[in-house]
Amino acid sequence: MARRPAPYLETLNDGQRAAVEALDGPVLVLAGAGTGKTRVLTTRLAHLLNTGRARPGDILAVTFTNKAAREMKHRIGELVGEVVEGMAWLGTFHSIGAKIIRRHAELVGLKSDFTILDTDDQIRLIKQLIRAEDLDEKRWPARQLAGLIDHWKNRGLGPGDLKSDDGFAFANGRGKELYAAYQARLKVLNAADFGDLILECLRLFRENTDVLNRYQERFRYMLVDEYQDTNVAQYLWMRLLAQGGGEARGNIACVGDDDQSIYGWRGAEVDNILRFETDFPGATVVRLERNYRSTHHILAAASGLIAHNEGRLGKTLHTEATEGEKVHVRGLWDAEEEARMISDEIEAAHARGHKLDEIAILVRASFQMREFEDRFVMADIPYRVIGGPRFYERQEIRDAVAYLQVTANPDNDLKFERIVNTPRRGVGDTTVALLAATARARGTSMFRAAQDLAQTDEIRGKARTSLKTLTADFVRWRGLIDTKSHIELAEMILDESGYTEMWQQDRSPTAAGRLENLKELIGQMEEFDSLAGFLEHISLVMDTAEDRDIDKVSLMTLHSAKGLEFGTVFLPGWEEGLFPHQRSLDESGKAGLEEERRLAYVGITRAKANAWISFASNRRIHGLWASAIPSRFVDELPASEVDVDTGGNGFGNAAASRFAARTEPFTSTYDTPGWRRAQANRDAFAPAPARAGPRRNPLIEGELVASSTGTPSPFPVGTRIFHLKFGYGTIASVDGNKLTVEFEKAGRKRVLDSFVEEH
Ligand code: ATP
Ligand code: MG
Repeated sequence: MARRPAPYLETLNDGQRAAVEALDGPVLVLAGAGTGKTRVLTTRLAHLLNTGRARPGDILAVTFTNKAAREMKHRIGELVGEVVEGMAWLGTFHSIGAKIIRRHAELVGLKSDFTILDTDDQIRLIKQLIRAEDLDEKRWPARQLAGLIDHWKNRGLGPGDLKSDDGFAFANGRGKELYAAYQARLKVLNAADFGDLILECLRLFRENTDVLNRYQERFRYMLVDEYQDTNVAQYLWMRLLAQGGGEARGNIACVGDDDQSIYGWRGAEVDNILRFETDFPGATVVRLERNYRSTHHILAAASGLIAHNEGRLGKTLHTEATEGEKVHVRGLWDAEEEARMISDEIEAAHARGHKLDEIAILVRASFQMREFEDRFVMADIPYRVIGGPRFYERQEIRDAVAYLQVTANPDNDLKFERIVNTPRRGVGDTTVALLAATARARGTSMFRAAQDLAQTDEIRGKARTSLKTLTADFVRWRGLIDTKSHIELAEMILDESGYTEMWQQDRSPTAAGRLENLKELIGQMEEFDSLAGFLEHISLVMDTAEDRDIDKVSLMTLHSAKGLEFGTVFLPGWEEGLFPHQRSLDESGKAGLEEERRLAYVGITRAKANAWISFASNRRIHGLWASAIPSRFVDELPASEVDVDTGGNGFGNAAASRFAARTEPFTSTYDTPGWRRAQANRDAFAPAPARAGPRRNPLIEGELVASSTGTPSPFPVGTRIFHLKFGYGTIASVDGNKLTVEFEKAGRKRVLDSFVEEH
C-alpha cells in the first residue's frame, strides 16, 4: 500500500530527505552553517520512532550541550508526541558517559555515587599532588599538568597507555607518574573528572566485552550532532558502540561542518570527518548547500571571511532569503561606549517590537560580559548568561552544594575541606593540614581521617568536638537520603550545620541576597527527583535553568553559541589580541589563527537578520588600560557586505602587542591555604634525623599506605615510643590503629599509631 510520506518529510529538501530516509547503515552529512543539519538529525529521530524502526530506548543521540538536548527533545516531541519521553539516551557525550559509568562503577574502581569534579576541583587536587611530591609549583604549575592530563584523556590514553617519553617535559619526565597518581587519588575520593566520563567508559568497554556487547545491542541507532568537534576519545567510544556484531550494525548518522570546528584546543579532531568513510565503508555522504537561516548579506560576509582559511574542505552555500541589511561594523572609543551602543540598539529594536529572546551578544572572552551586565542592570534590560556558571559560582551556592555533595559522598575531600570550618567551628588550618596529611598517608579520605582522629588526642579542644559532631552529623544526614525528601534534607542540613545561621548573623550588605540565593537553590531542587539527580545536574549543567519564560537578551561566549540562532547578533571586541585571541596565536600559530577565524564564522552565521560587529580602541583588561587595533577579521569581511561607521575614532596607532600581552586566560586560581600550611608544617612534624628508626616520618607521602584503619598495630604493648607533640611514652594498650600511651610528661593519651615511632 502506497502511503503518503509523513508531513515532516515534505518540508525537507532532497538532500535533507535522503539523509533522513537512509535509515540503515552509516550516514555522514557534511554541510555548512544553517543548512539544516540539526533539523535532519531531529527529523531522522522522529522518523525512526514514527516508522516503528526503533523504540526510544534503542536510540543514542549525542548533542553538544544539555541545552541542545532539551531543545531536540522538545522538537521531536512536536513530531511524534509523548513517546519521546522514553528517550533516555539523548544528551552530551559527558552526560551519557556518566550515566553508563554509574551503572558499572565498580568495574572501573568507583562507586555508583561518584562525584564529578569541576575544573577548579581538578586543579586543586593536582596542586596537592605536586606539593606532596615536593615539586616547585612555580616551575611546574598545576594548570600545566592539568592541561597535559586533559590532552591525554582527550586522546583516549590512560596512564598505562602512555609511552615512556610522553609527558617527559613535565617535572623532568614525571608527568606520566603524576598522571597515574592523580587517577589513583580520584578513585580514593570516589570521583571522576570530565575527561574520565569518556575515558573510563572506554576502559569499561575495552575490559568488559560483555558490557560492551550489551550496549552495542541496545543502541541500534546512533546520531551525533556537531561531529566536527568530537575528540579522539569520543570518536573511539562512538566507533566501539557502532561497530559491534549483531543485526542492526553501523547505523550511525553524524552531521558536522569542518568550518565550525572550534575545539581544537581541547583535542577535537576535524580529521574524524575524513576518517568516517574509512571506518564506516559504504557510508551515505550527503552535502547540503542551501542555508535556511541567514539573509544574503550575512551569509556572504561569513563566507567571505572563512574563505581566508586554507585548511578547509571547501563548500559553497547559497540562500534564497532576501538581501537583508548589511553587516554593521562599528568602531567605538572604549568598551563602555561599545556596551552603550549595543544596549541602545537593543532598546531601539525592542521598541520596534523585536523580542529580546531573539537577540544575543556573543563574546570571545567571558571577562567581556561584565561590561554588558553592568550596562543592562543600569538600563533595566533583562538578560541571561548562557553556559556561564554564574549562579553556581556564588560562594554561598558553592558552600551549600558542598554540604550536599559531602552528604552524598563523604570521601569528597575537596568539598569537605571547603566546608569543614564554614561556618567557623574552630577547625583551623593546622587541623585541616593534619587531616589532609593523615588522609594522604593512609590512602583514605579526609572525612574518614577526621572520624578517626576525633577519637584520639591528636586533635584537641574545640576542633576535636567539632569534628566529632560534624562527621556524626554527616553520617546521620546520609542515613536520611532514602527516607527523607531531598528538599527537606537539604534544608535540614543547612540549618543543623549552622550554615544558614551564619548568613543570618552576618551584618554585611550582601548577606540578605545570599540567603535569597540559598532559597532559590532549594527551590530549584524541586525540579529533581532525588539528591543524586540534583547533584548530577549541578556537575553537568552549569547553565542555570532560571526563568526561561521571561523575554531576555542572551549573553554568552562564541564557543557556547554553536548550533544556536538569533534574529539579531552582536559581536563585540573584534580587536587584535582579543579576537583573534593572542593565546591561540602564540600557542598554535597559523592553526590557532584559523580556529579563531572559524569561531568568527560561527559567530556571524548565528544571525538570521542582523549582525553587528564592533571594536573599541581602548579597553581595560585586569585594571590596565590598553589601546587596540581592529581585528584583521574586520578587514577580511568583503566590503560589499558591510556598512562601516567608526565615528572618527582613531585606529591604527595602537600598540597591539601591549594589548595582546594582557589578554591572558581569564580564569581564577584557587588557593588552598590548608595545603600550603601542610607543606610548611611537614618539617615540624618530622622527627629529628637522629631519631629516625625503622619507621620514618609518617607524614611523608606514601610511607604508611599499608597501615590503614583496622589493621593491627605493629607496636606491642610495652614498646617505648616517641610522639612529636607528647614526647616519650610507653604503650599501655592497642586498639587497632589507636594506641593508649602513658607519656612521661603528658600523661595518658590516645594517639594514632602512625604518629609515633619506636624508640
Ligand atoms: P549549524 O551549522 O549552525 O548547526 P544546522 O546546519 O544545524 O546549523 P539547523 O539549525 O538545523 O542548521 O537549521 C537552520 C535553520 O533553518 C533552522 O531555523 C531550521 O528550522 C531551518 N531549516 C532547515 N531546513 C529547512 C527546510 N527544509 N525548510 C525550512 N526551514 C529549514
Ligand atoms: Mg546544528
